[in-house]
Amino acid sequence: MAADDKRPPAQLAKAALLRLAQAQQEPTPENYARAYAQEAGTPLLRPGADTAAASSASSAGGSENWSQLIERVVRGIERGDKSWPIGRKKDGLQRVLANNRSDAQRLYGRLQQLVKSWDGESSSDEEVQTASQFMDEEGPSTQPGGFGATGMAPLLDIDTARGLSAGEWPTIGASLQATVRHAVNFPGGIGDELMRDLDSARLELQRDGATPERAAEIEALCRRARHLLDHRQHLFGELNQLCRELSASLVDLAEEDSWVQGQCEIMHAAISHGLGSRGVRSATELLAGTRERQQQLRVERAQARDVLKGVIQQMLTELSELGQHTDRFQDSVGRYADAIEKADSLESLAGTVREMVEESRSVRDLVKQTQVRLSTEHDRAAELSVKVEALEDELRKLSSEVQTDQLTQIANRRGLIKAFEQEQARSEREGGRIALALLDIDNFKKLNDTLGHAAGDEALKSLAKRVSDLLRPGDMVARYGGEEFVLLLPATPIEEAQQVLARLQRSLSASLFTHEAKEVFVTFSAGVTLYRAGETLEAALDRADVALYEAKHTGKNRACVAP
Ligand code: GH3
Ligand code: MG
Ligand code: MG
Repeated sequence: MAADDKRPPAQLAKAALLRLAQAQQEPTPENYARAYAQEAGTPLLRPGADTAAASSASSAGGSENWSQLIERVVRGIERGDKSWPIGRKKDGLQRVLANNRSDAQRLYGRLQQLVKSWDGESSSDEEVQTASQFMDEEGPSTQPGGFGATGMAPLLDIDTARGLSAGEWPTIGASLQATVRHAVNFPGGIGDELMRDLDSARLELQRDGATPERAAEIEALCRRARHLLDHRQHLFGELNQLCRELSASLVDLAEEDSWVQGQCEIMHAAISHGLGSRGVRSATELLAGTRERQQQLRVERAQARDVLKGVIQQMLTELSELGQHTDRFQDSVGRYADAIEKADSLESLAGTVREMVEESRSVRDLVKQTQVRLSTEHDRAAELSVKVEALEDELRKLSSEVQTDQLTQIANRRGLIKAFEQEQARSEREGGRIALALLDIDNFKKLNDTLGHAAGDEALKSLAKRVSDLLRPGDMVARYGGEEFVLLLPATPIEEAQQVLARLQRSLSASLFTHEAKEVFVTFSAGVTLYRAGETLEAALDRADVALYEAKHTGKNRACVAP
């Protein structure tokens, strides 16, 4: 082969193994290194370890075994299948070769495990384990972003883990134990027993070192943890289904054309994407907002109903009073008719007529007064009905049309969705990245509690203004909910988005506003991510939310990047 062979390492490794098999040579590290060097056309770099390696190779199995294994590797590589595409196999092989070159015995074992998993010989549980084992050999994560600065110190430095001796396994055990413990620490104590067993397994591993029995015991514990996590996953799925059902029936139950129906539909749409943390939170906020508005409406409606009740009661009273008067008047009319008939003089006739006129005048006045009173009450009831209708109208608009947040006068969630859709279409047409950042004010509840809700509102307004003023034209800030804001930064690479956030954070080293002659300072935490073509806004924001969560849990007043 040419000295500057450009074949990828996996291909070179495969060719080196073939070369060994054809030459019927033992694949000791040295033979393998020589074959690899010959294939790659590079000088051999590891002289002088022949004796030790040869003895270790012989203990890993004879040349017979090795050549069989190599044949299986080669056959396995050539046979692609759905769950193990060739690329994945090559990656696995490359990792195993790269990490076990110095120990033939270990290399033999790892290669055996690898081909077993390709052949589907291992159970699905084992497969997971094997696959993750090979992934673990990848070395330190190269993921970008703030997660590296999470403050969670790794329990095991992967670089120093290469070539660990048996005595060092407890360190790995401790790391695994802490990870599994973290994963099964469910509320309600479901994982408590497993956590206790994990703790004691870790202590035993520390005390007695690694033995095959201990490995089996830890494997059993891992299996139990997987079952618990599977069950959790199952519950999560069920919960998701329940939420969807609930939100769908809310839509059905809401009166047709009512503003509540609009809210329920938005909520249902948020949940239908799946239970991402953002989706759940926005549905919760929507539900809370809807309930609050509904309560407000209920109060107004109850007032209108009470007034109407009063009007009807009043009408009935007035009518019965009027009735009594008119009955009395009827009697009087009868009496007057008798008196007129019996009247024997003009004076007595005139007296009866005078009485009659006076009584009919007082009846007329009473009817008039009643009319006025009833019409006033009617107007009051009508006024209240109009008020209820206006409120319903406002709420309907709020749920379906308005794109501006009333408090801060920047875009609300609806406005953000609209703007995002436009940017999304533009990025599909013209290319270009869209960065999204989710901002959440730090310790906002405390600010509300100490300075009052009005000061909290002032903080939201001032922050919205401060951010709007600092953004470039074309960028956008929206109030996404309570004290959360979203930045939509078109044509912005992630590093630039981080700079934008750093600039905003710096600007908050100056006070945000003054309350009762005292300067008020506010900070925020943020999660930043890049929109990935084809995904929903919610999906991107969910990713940003994970980074935001990280920022909150590593000291706040910082921005983390979601890869
Ligand atoms: P963290 O640093 O972890 O984000 O804590 P926090 O206190 O900021 O977060 P938390 O979610 O506990 O509290 C948010 C508070 O924001 C609770 C809620 O009353 C308040 N809030 C939400 N919307 C408004 C609003 O429109 N005006 C005011 N004044 N407060 C609001
Ligand atoms: Mg919040
Ligand atoms: Mg907050």
